[in-house]
Amino acid sequence: MIAKFETRCILCVRKAIQEKFCEYHYEALQSLRDHYQVWKNSYGEITWYDYLTRLQEIKYTGKWVKDVIEIELKNVKNE
Ligand SMILES: [Zn+2]
Repeated sequence: MIAKFETRCILCVRKAIQEKFCEYHYEALQSLRDHYQVWKNSYGEITWYDYLTRLQEIKYTGKWVKDVIEIELKNVKNE
């Protein structure tokens, strides 16, 4: 038997709307992905992992984005 429960964001207590993220964290993920394309166009090929690692070091990266980066880096490592 599968228990039905409301899916929560994996990063906070809000309701998940997409890919296990709430609206704020999902928005952060989307902007990360958009930005990734921009980086690749400007700086050439960079891996998702390297990109995230670099962004993490930038101090003006927002809190929502940092949360997403942390969880993404864990996912990449586990792959
Ligand atoms: Zn969230």
